[in-house]
Parts: sequence; C-alpha cells; structure tokens
Amino acid sequence: MSKKKLCPCCSQKEYDQCCRLFHEGKLPMRPLELMRSRYSAYALNFPDYIMETTHPANPYYSKDTLSWRRSISEFSKSSSFEKLEILATSEKEATVTFTAYIIQDSKDLSFTEKVILKKWVADGSIAMVNCLRGARSYPNKFMLIFDFS
Ligand SMILES: [Zn+2]
Repeated sequence: MSKKKLCPCCSQKEYDQCCRLFHEGKLPMRPLELMRSRYSAYALNFPDYIMETTHPANPYYSKDTLSWRRSISEFSKSSSFEKLEILATSEKEATVTFTAYIIQDSKDLSFTEKVILKKWVADGSIAMVNCLRGARSYPNKFMLIFDFS
C-alpha cells in the first residue's frame, strides 16, 4: 500500500484529489481554489501555473516569460513552503485572507495577505480568477502591494 501524498496547500486532502486537478488544467473558479493551488504550485515548483494565474495588470506580471519563469522557479527551489493558513474568505466579495509560512535560508519570509480577486476571460473563452488587489501585513508593517481595480 502506498502512502498518498498530502497536498502542499494544507487542505488535508491528497494532492491527486486537490490542487493537481488545477495544475493539470481544471480552471479555478473560486477564490480559495486559486489561492490554494497557487501556493502548492510554488511549493512544487510549477512556475507556469503561477504565470497563467497572474492577471496581466498585476505588477508581478512580466512579458519576459523566460526570466519571469526562472525567477519564480528560483524562489520555489530556494524556499521551504511550511504551511498555508486561510484566515478568512468571502465568495461574495471574492476575497481571501491568508498567512503563507515560508522559510528561505533560515530567514522567515512568512506574511499575511488579503487579496481581492476578479474573474477575467482569457482568449475569449477561459474564465479564471485572479488577484485584483492585495494588502500584505508584517508584524509591524502594513502595506498595499498592488491595486489595479
Ligand atoms: Zn491543494
């Protein structure tokens, strides 16, 4: 009997029954599905999924896909994705507040972020949910990281 791998998004579900569906093409239609599957894509080093689910108006979006892919992948490989904690979510307002626990070179890069997501249509047919606005807080600091509503 093989032990099934739990999904890195901390849903307590097996990866095969969780974010793998999105990483293999199913479209995330709910804010929580998007945030969880992005976290696990970082953890598993799937830069293409991160790129596909980043809104073109997001400041992290880059047209230079080669170097963008490389920098996401370097971040994934050099970081340890300890835990994703969902603090609040609203389907109606399409918001998710979460804490991502990330360690890099024994430095704690964990942060709490509230994101407002928006559905958008790519290529005229595909609906995706994407970050519209985000605010990030650190223990003593609060800052708006992007706003393009
Ligand atoms: Zn998952």
